[in-house]
Amino acid sequence: MSLPRIFVTLLFVAGVMACNHNDSSASGSGNNDPAPRDLVNRDIAAFKNNSALSTSITSYDQSNKGVFTKVFGGTSDSAILDYFNTRIHYFYTASELKKMTISPSRFRNSSWSSDDSPSDDSDSKSDVVVGASNIGMALWLMGLLDGVTVVINAEGKDLTVDSSRFGLMEIGPGYMLTEHTKSGRAFTIPAAYRQAILLHEARHSDCTGGISNADLAILRNTTSMKSMQANYKNKKCGHMHSICSGGDYAGLPGCDDIPWGAYAVQLVYLKAAYGSTSGLDNLIMRAGIIDTASRLQFDADDMFAGKFGDPDMSSSGLRQP
Ligand SMILES: [Zn+2]
Repeated sequence: MSLPRIFVTLLFVAGVMACNHNDSSASGSGNNDPAPRDLVNRDIAAFKNNSALSTSITSYDQSNKGVFTKVFGGTSDSAILDYFNTRIHYFYTASELKKMTISPSRFRNSSWSSDDSPSDDSDSKSDVVVGASNIGMALWLMGLLDGVTVVINAEGKDLTVDSSRFGLMEIGPGYMLTEHTKSGRAFTIPAAYRQAILLHEARHSDCTGGISNADLAILRNTTSMKSMQANYKNKKCGHMHSICSGGDYAGLPGCDDIPWGAYAVQLVYLKAAYGSTSGLDNLIMRAGIIDTASRLQFDADDMFAGKFGDPDMSSSGLRQP
């Protein structure tokens, strides 16, 4: 099944990081890394009882007008976990998802999210990999567009996709513990870098401001991703990505045109957690901050200065009119 690719985290792995992700099996990147779901669980657990992380986040929040609290509802580990657990409930790799039944098995109104050219296919761009993807948001929206209730049979249970916060995340091949330099040397990615991906994906579960029948009609009448990007205005529902106009991700849906979207949330977390890391971890976090900031195709300083208002972290469904 082809699902919209605009609720994903794209990661650039060229430069210091060479690509070692051709194997997208469930066993990780082909080394001794834990299985992807175990790694996600480990990263979620690492939010808890981490005094260096907590100190760093509190200090960041205090010196940045409480922006962390505005996004995540607080600086404590329980606030961050509440934010995450409200929005993400299930996570699987692509190969695990393939074993599940999704009903319906295809959607009629899907051309709005189809790629215009082969170059839009991030999987075929060797330097860019998917870190994770919010499949739940995509399925909820596809269900609304087709006027059907989407049901997933996962591990013997029928799960109804009844809201944008259904919270099903696909763990991508870029979600990994161990990365390799171009010379082949292995190094470890810090947990905070991946935690930022989890919090990014969680943001895609928010249909902020709701979605109207008029919005759905526009999407049904849209025949390509390019045309969607030009004509569809309600990107806050799902915090849909925009096509990057330049840089490493040019032509890919790896940027945000609206404030307080998934990359902004990711950036706030990376900046807040940065102070808890040292050595190589610190450099990787810095690279992540620069990379994530480059995805914001508006003035991020204006956003942090409050010129677009505080982040609206609410979510609703279909609204009238
Ligand atoms: Zn995303």
